[in-house]
Amino acid sequence: MIVMKFGGTLMGSSQAIKHSASLVVSSVKGGESVVVVPSAMSGVTDMLLKIASSASDGDIAFANDEIALLRQRHLSTAVDLGAAPNSSTVEKLLGLLEQLAQTVHGIGLLRELSSRSKDLIVSFGERLSAPLMALALEGQGVRALDLTGGQAGLLTGDDFGNARPLPEAYERIPERLGGLFQQNITPVVTGFIGETRKGVITTLGRGGTDYTATILGAALNADEVWLWKDVDGVMTTDPRLVPEARNLEHLSYAEIMEMAYFGAKVLHPLAVTPLQDKGIPLRVKSAADPSFPGTLVTSEPRAGEGAVKAVTAIRNSAIIDIGGAGMVGVPEVVSRIFNVLAQENVNVLMISQSSSMANISLVVMRPEAKRAFEALKNQFEGGEFVRTFELWEDVATVAVVGEGMRGEKGVAAKLFNAVAAEGISLHMISQGSSELNISFCIDESEVEKAVKAVHKAFGLERQMLATKDG
Ligand code: ASP
Ligand code: MG
Repeated sequence: MIVMKFGGTLMGSSQAIKHSASLVVSSVKGGESVVVVPSAMSGVTDMLLKIASSASDGDIAFANDEIALLRQRHLSTAVDLGAAPNSSTVEKLLGLLEQLAQTVHGIGLLRELSSRSKDLIVSFGERLSAPLMALALEGQGVRALDLTGGQAGLLTGDDFGNARPLPEAYERIPERLGGLFQQNITPVVTGFIGETRKGVITTLGRGGTDYTATILGAALNADEVWLWKDVDGVMTTDPRLVPEARNLEHLSYAEIMEMAYFGAKVLHPLAVTPLQDKGIPLRVKSAADPSFPGTLVTSEPRAGEGAVKAVTAIRNSAIIDIGGAGMVGVPEVVSRIFNVLAQENVNVLMISQSSSMANISLVVMRPEAKRAFEALKNQFEGGEFVRTFELWEDVATVAVVGEGMRGEKGVAAKLFNAVAAEGISLHMISQGSSELNISFCIDESEVEKAVKAVHKAFGLERQMLATKDG
């Protein structure tokens, strides 16, 4: 059994959906059981978020115009895929669009948007796209049934906007989907969304369709999970920064997770976690070139792979620096710092503390930096512990990733030599004891130069050694 995820671009038009469906069909016709997990059509989730916020600002007219565009796009796609005007697919789409309009109307009247109603609104993207995929599969001779995440058994907690699967989801999913395979029906399960025990719709966070696919893969003990993309696979770096970037044949779960956190928009950061215990392989595959192997992700790095596999960059980061002799030997200060950031719901990308403890530097995303900085100042200003506060906003964070760095000597020296040779100065450095990642901050204006130099220093443009154990 294979779980196949299709991103928004691969669901973006009737043409794209037909092609995506053909990739499913060729596996099904080859005797494979497939679960299909589509994203919303490209751009739709962003549009729904805009609809939600304009409705809560009272601009229902704008929201309704956007809903009309969604109606037009989904209905014309259904017709292109062969749906008759009074077919069950068209009825279903119209029903969903009507529900969406009513929900938006309610939000417009209340002028209030909770994270719970926001999840309901964005869920329409995948709920509208899944029937289109099912239609395309039927059109190519494969029996298919579209289900919401909740209908497929994906139970979550009620942490709206960022929901996590409940343990019982892993029992309920095979109960809900098992019967379909026996009847030779291919399930098409909406990505991104789940349901609480009370049946309220939740979302797994942006990019959550990846996570849906891996949760289903683990629950069903799938042989593999395939993420179909409009690129070849996961690359050594962003090809827009470095034209020599190339596809990575293989990564470990830990490596791809590290890359997901560090700006290489490869997948939802938690997506590999459901696969780890069972060791289910993940493949990132190119829809344009299905015979290309793409990137295989498994538990262990392979013999012969380089110490550094990839270099990623997060442009819009910022450094917050907190210092003062009063911090020395006062562990309570550290806990207060993190409490403040947690209350403000700010994610910390990177931390560094000198061993004297007189200074702590934190890297956060720039849009959150001011808020975090002000909150920390409020907490400590005028107190005895912290004397200096600094905020640097034009910073980029560069990270090199690879499990092979563990125990390997000279990696950091080579890395920082390459950066220094370009005349770039470092504002902050961090390496965890897992030695999976070395990250550093530089001026944002130097990010391209730095990434190019590091990519070259580690020879990432060269083909990885062929290994026999794959
Ligand atoms: N449609 C959702 C998003 O745009 C989920 C996904 O595509 O993975 O974030
Ligand atoms: Mg995505």
